[in-house]
Amino acid sequence: MRAHAAEIIAERLASAEPRNDGRQTPYRNHPVFVAQHATATCCRSCLETWHGIAKGHQLDRGERSYVVEVIGRWIDRELATSIERRAPRNVTSRRS
Ligand SMILES: [Zn+2]
Repeated sequence: MRAHAAEIIAERLASAEPRNDGRQTPYRNHPVFVAQHATATCCRSCLETWHGIAKGHQLDRGERSYVVEVIGRWIDRELATSIERRAPRNVTSRRS
């Protein structure tokens, strides 16, 4: 998943002036896109406003891996909570 996120970032966000910036990230179809909107890593404007990464330069290695990390953590948390929802922990230990 993180490898996929890295690809998407490199393709859509990393250049100094991404094409269609602000509209390059679809809202559906891929968990990485959903995560990008949830974590404000969907476009360079959001990156600048919420993460302090200025627009107008190419993202360096560190910035790209930071963004991938943010997305990866969000996805991990989502997966964890959706698994919990499906298998509630209190099934066997019932309080009296
Ligand atoms: Zn945005």
